[in-house]
Amino acid sequence: MDSDIINDMDKLETDAKHVLNQLSELSTFLASPEGVPNIAQAFDRPLEIMQKTMSFDVSVFYKITNVVENSLLLRVVRLSDPAGFRPDLYEGKRLQICLSSPDYKYINEAIAFETRSVSVVNVPGRGCDIMGFIYLPESFGGGYLFGGDFSGEQSKVKDYEASVCGIMCNYLSTILIKGQLEDLAINDNLTGLFNSRKIKEEVDRICRRFKRRADNCASLALCDIDHFKAVNDTWGHLQGDVILREVGGILKSSMRENFDVAGRYGGEEFLMVFDETDGATAFEIVERIREKIQTHKFTKIDESGARVKGKYISVTISFGIAENSLPEDGAAALGREEWISRADQVLYRAKKQGRNQTHIF
Ligand code: GH3
Ligand code: MG
Ligand code: MG
Repeated sequence: MDSDIINDMDKLETDAKHVLNQLSELSTFLASPEGVPNIAQAFDRPLEIMQKTMSFDVSVFYKITNVVENSLLLRVVRLSDPAGFRPDLYEGKRLQICLSSPDYKYINEAIAFETRSVSVVNVPGRGCDIMGFIYLPESFGGGYLFGGDFSGEQSKVKDYEASVCGIMCNYLSTILIKGQLEDLAINDNLTGLFNSRKIKEEVDRICRRFKRRADNCASLALCDIDHFKAVNDTWGHLQGDVILREVGGILKSSMRENFDVAGRYGGEEFLMVFDETDGATAFEIVERIREKIQTHKFTKIDESGARVKGKYISVTISFGIAENSLPEDGAAALGREEWISRADQVLYRAKKQGRNQTHIF
């Protein structure tokens, strides 16, 4: 046989053994009982293995923080770029990628997201780029993207490299699910408040209690940020997310421990539940929160997500309150759907009458 072919086959065998060894190491790590302490650490080991297996010049791990209309919002969770090839990226950096016409630097990110699979872009003479998609259900905080760039020396991603990247993404999704199972099942990823499933469960819990105890009442408030679409349209979805997070923080800090809970009910809607609280008292609490939001200076960010010093944004919010208790005539208390629907009806009235106000059913 031609000696070049023998050399090639030897090399192939060595490469294959190397990759298999790395994968087997990763699966041992996955199966270890300690679990995964946090997301950034979960990523360290696969990153190290990717580096050893295929020597990326730049590796990057993005969290998909949101998808709003045509925009993919990402945050860089981990970056390895020892030679500084990508000064535009750093850990913590937030990106807004337009899915229909992405900036050339982020084409692969957009394709990997849209196809939900490994995407490869080869630029002959300039290098190549690989990006994989890590699927996680919304209730687990949504997906991640993971991949890397090879600089000029390697101008084509090899088939086995694309396969390893795909396998690695599946491993990562398992690791992440393992690590996040407990926390994300109840918390909203963006605001840290309860997610909508959990807050509805809280409402159900109180409704069930009315069946056992006749002596109390509770109130809930549904609220919706005013003209939020205009906020997104004017300053971008990253800015919108900053505001959502800060509104969440204000709601959380205004809650009375042991009585109140708050959750993200929908996109820019929140639901607060005030236990053992009548409508009039809930109204007073909510009015204080509404005023706090009205005067709050919301952080202004630029398009790269960096804070703009000395500049702020104002937003307002409208509230609808509904009380629930066991009626004296022996009828049943409201169920969850009807209770929330009442709050929704008066929220609608607050919107129609000019916004930035609280109405009670
Ligand atoms: P209104 O005062 O009547 O409530 O007006 P609005 O513009 O707030 O109402 P609308 O319901 O039309 O718009 C809500 C907008 O919220 C549309 C959507 O793009 C935006 N939105 C929903 N979820 C998110 C999110 O997670 N992040 C960002 N940035 N925007 C979101
Ligand atoms: Mg809305
Ligand atoms: Mg709104």
